[in-house]
Amino acid sequence: MFTAMHQQDVQELHFCHKEQLNAVIAIHNLRLGPALGGCRFLPYDTEQEAMTDALRLAKGMSYKAALARVPQGGGKAVIMAPKGHFNRKKLFKQFGQFIQSLSGRYITAMDSGSQVSDMDDIRSQTPYVSSSSDIGDPSPTTAQGVALGISTAVQFKFSQNLTNMRVAIQGLGHVGLALAEQLHLQGAKLIVCDVDIKKAKLAQNKFNAKIVAPQEIYKQECDIFSPCGLGAILNPKNIDALKCKIIAGCANNQLASDDMGQALHEKGILYAPDYVINSGGLIFASSRFRGLKAGEISREVNKLRDTLDKIFVLSHTKNIACHEIANEMAEQILYGKITELQEAV
Ligand code: NAD
Repeated sequence: MFTAMHQQDVQELHFCHKEQLNAVIAIHNLRLGPALGGCRFLPYDTEQEAMTDALRLAKGMSYKAALARVPQGGGKAVIMAPKGHFNRKKLFKQFGQFIQSLSGRYITAMDSGSQVSDMDDIRSQTPYVSSSSDIGDPSPTTAQGVALGISTAVQFKFSQNLTNMRVAIQGLGHVGLALAEQLHLQGAKLIVCDVDIKKAKLAQNKFNAKIVAPQEIYKQECDIFSPCGLGAILNPKNIDALKCKIIAGCANNQLASDDMGQALHEKGILYAPDYVINSGGLIFASSRFRGLKAGEISREVNKLRDTLDKIFVLSHTKNIACHEIANEMAEQILYGKITELQEAV
């Protein structure tokens, strides 16, 4: 267990077992503020799997918060969904008591498998929750950040705006559909797919988008590929098929491995690191938790443009892949590590 914590550089790992509740909270780093990160509610096969997920995801949240400049550390919770019958309300209330016992070191939010009503149940036990119904949905803010990130990448790569740029969007969920709308309003031409054909048809009707089958999206002749569905889609097979010049989308953990970031760099594809371009959601959750107003939240999200610009410029001048530049920048903020790269900035 301590080796696994050491590997992800996680400072604290908390376990809670109460009746049917088996939960883990991983806190990666508190240097910038209380840890903030979602709560996954999934049917993990083993305790090991649940713990590993919490450790890995907590680290990612620290990096995201550091580059988004929000005063939060990285944390993540996982609840092992009980097998068989259980009382969901009671389970999330017990989880709320677990969070409360950490006295504000960890603030939770919605994530895969959890929903707003669960956050409201947590809220009945602790104030340390940021996506209860009184706080609202972060997706429109995430989409706002991704649209801004895409226009930043287009400006860097093609020195122009989004008019007539061909964008292939994979996944039209909460973020993907809102993103499609923003890109359409800025004159982009859309190619879309979703495993749910109703969502694709909606984008066709509203934004004149061309629909393709999900497995065809990687092969599309386009300027920008925007992954907004699943993680780990940038793997050797899909990368070979890509015909785009930019990858910029909201999905978490797009790179199947760090080698894929290097492969994109070598192919001349500009990659907007996922945890930078999709940080609008975290900025929203943190800002709403701290009581900031809509205008202030927008201003914070707009700063993402400068961060991405800096990553693109450094990647180009130093000939280093964008994901590596982003990691180094985050590590410098988190650990004050000065590397050769930062000395050059
Ligand atoms: P969502 O579940 O609302 O949407 C995902 C969409 O992708 C769904 O419509 C689904 O049908 C579609 N999809 C799934 N598999 C697909 C496939 N193989 N091909 C095509 N479409 C497929 O989720 P969301 O909230 O829109 O989030 C999307 C991604 O962005 C996730 O990876 C999420 O972790 C990440 N993210 C979301 C936010 C946010 O604010 N919601 C913030 C940061 C990151």
